[in-house]
Amino acid sequence: MRLVSCVHEGRMLTGLWRSGRVLDLGAAGRRANEAADLGSMLAIIRGGAAALAALNRLQERGDDFPEAWIDAGQLQLLAPIPQPVRNVFCVGRNYADHVREGYAKGGQETKLPSVPQFFTKATRAVNAPHGDVRLDSRLTRLLDYEVELAVIIGAGGRDIPAEQAYEHVFGYTVANDFTARDLQRRHEQWFKGKSLDTSCPLGPCIVDRAEIGDPGTLELSLTVNGEPRQRARVAQMIFDIPAIIASLSAGLTLEPGDIIATGTPSGVGYAMNPARALKGGDLVVSGIDRIGELRNRIVEV
Ligand code: MN
Repeated sequence: MRLVSCVHEGRMLTGLWRSGRVLDLGAAGRRANEAADLGSMLAIIRGGAAALAALNRLQERGDDFPEAWIDAGQLQLLAPIPQPVRNVFCVGRNYADHVREGYAKGGQETKLPSVPQFFTKATRAVNAPHGDVRLDSRLTRLLDYEVELAVIIGAGGRDIPAEQAYEHVFGYTVANDFTARDLQRRHEQWFKGKSLDTSCPLGPCIVDRAEIGDPGTLELSLTVNGEPRQRARVAQMIFDIPAIIASLSAGLTLEPGDIIATGTPSGVGYAMNPARALKGGDLVVSGIDRIGELRNRIVEV
């Protein structure tokens, strides 16, 4: 199932997406006398198995609630979790080709990471799937893109073993980890250059874990103004999703609704010769098959 957060006539709602229409889950749930709170994505995720069961019933009975369906053209999509409680967790350098292109740029020999490298993006970086991305040239002359698969945590936990990791996954979405490379370098730490407002578009929907099955088969792609820049399969990750969840949750409690961006493949702009920065007006389209596309315009401010 494909879940979206959106605005309709000034009201925020959570919906089930089906061929160009969205079922307002809060409204349909009330009509069906469902006990679970389906009014927001975080409420659904925190609702666990009971909320998922309610969603499955509504999905089957969808035609019983004609008044709860809204035409997609009348909606404005938001990030599936529009206001995350915590920073977005991210894994850096998790595709070998991307690690290689980084070392090659510096003229150094490649050394693959032996443990996942974690950092975070501030909550206000989260942006809508079709939202504009700010480019402030006083801060950065080297804004870059990174298409990534993002994992949405369902059941929380600490010290989650890799063998049980998928039981803690609610679903998946597309992320773009926009990065101000020069700012990242200037501050000698990744957080600042990766946490600018609007620099983390997410969406367009969350696809639940059962529907995706093996995420390794998913394919990531990214274009800038239609020009192909990134393409890879999720199976090419150095640390797979169970390894990431086991490592991140060691001594650190993951909570329902936490977002983990799992790293980007090769093809980023800064590694090209010469480096290519995003400019005002550029359209960046980041996609993952079976999930959907982000379409983000770079806007100079
Ligand atoms: Mn990244």
